[in-house]
Amino acid sequence: ELTLDVEVLRAEFPVLGRRVHGDKALVYFDNAATTQTPKAVLDTWVDYFERYNANIHRGLHRLADEATQAYEHSRDTVREFVNAEDVREIIFTRGTTEAINLVAQSWGRSQLVEGDEILISRLEHHSNIVPWQMLAQEKGLTIRIIPVDERGELDMDAYRALFTSRTRLVCVAHVSNALGTVNPVAEMARIAHEHDARILVDGAQAVAHTRVDVQTLDVDFYAFSGHKLYGPTGIGVLYGRLSLLEAMPPWQGGGEMIRTVSLEEGTRFAEPPHRFEAGTPAIAEVIALERAIRWVTNLHFELLEEWEQRLLKHATDRMKGIDGMRIIGEAPHKAAVISFVVEGAHSQDIGLLVDQFGVAIRTGHHCAQPLMHHYGLDATCRASFAAYNTLEEVDYFVDALQRVVTMVRD
Ligand code: PMP
Repeated sequence: ELTLDVEVLRAEFPVLGRRVHGDKALVYFDNAATTQTPKAVLDTWVDYFERYNANIHRGLHRLADEATQAYEHSRDTVREFVNAEDVREIIFTRGTTEAINLVAQSWGRSQLVEGDEILISRLEHHSNIVPWQMLAQEKGLTIRIIPVDERGELDMDAYRALFTSRTRLVCVAHVSNALGTVNPVAEMARIAHEHDARILVDGAQAVAHTRVDVQTLDVDFYAFSGHKLYGPTGIGVLYGRLSLLEAMPPWQGGGEMIRTVSLEEGTRFAEPPHRFEAGTPAIAEVIALERAIRWVTNLHFELLEEWEQRLLKHATDRMKGIDGMRIIGEAPHKAAVISFVVEGAHSQDIGLLVDQFGVAIRTGHHCAQPLMHHYGLDATCRASFAAYNTLEEVDYFVDALQRVVTMVRD
């Protein structure tokens, strides 16, 4: 029988052995901001520099060949990870933010015209809002907002009603970083396509927690970051439907993305995905990302989801016992994220004080100010879990939180 042996996998993360503020064992509950990195991924990164550091694609020598093979092998692992049909649909970017900007600047600038409409949900991270506002300003587009209800779920009737003959694109997070809400992206994609619109899904908070299949979801673009997936910073992925990518102009110009360059006759561009990867990429990070994907896949998503849901339920049940506690966002289908405020206490004070117990949580607007304002808040505290967190850590956190709340409310 398969089980998730949390103690064994914790041992793979050197940082989890750290003590902070003197002798406090680190309890890391800021996984929605960034996950920690297992030794296997760190070793893969170092191994690249120690054995075959070289620039890719153009070199004929041994090291360049090895680096190129490893880089392109990672692309195929990513393809398999999200079940894309074709490896040419996988573009490496710096992260989710850059992936979304790529779609806005390439697809958006070339395909959208004045008066076209984009639907964006109220629970988006700023990185799935601001690039569209910038484009809307440049092009004269209209942005319409998919509303969120009190529980933190998208209002699907309102969503259907927002479509007009001018709707061209839907932008939505698979999982909300601020609330944990899992959005019905497959259904949203179906509705978007009925209206001949495209859909871009921000998967930054999804890929480390649930199996993603871009063909089953039937989405047009899907973006995510390596550093929320037990991998390095500085690397992310854009999946794009091949027929769309083939029609998209380059975004950045430079080396790697061309077929031929002539000062007299101009430049002919490479085919996707290379057309969208100008310059020397983050080679080591791409290779380490592959290792991270293999690491998380080896945990088995069914077991991982079951474990994280147990952590979520245990934490939610216990936190509700704290006086003045208000959990923000209680969608029935949630990832392991708990946003909360405590009546009579500032979120920042809570964050600073639980840190003194060694517990890392996040406080602030979580780059989702429109969503915060929907709840009449400027900030919340957020605890977010990953594979290596334990029920004992949850208990320790809730006990610390209880003490902190008693302290600040007195
Ligand atoms: N979208 C969501 C839902 C996120 O949680 C984040 C990271 N907080 C991003 C986008 C941006 O990711 P990155 O900073 O890695 O580009």
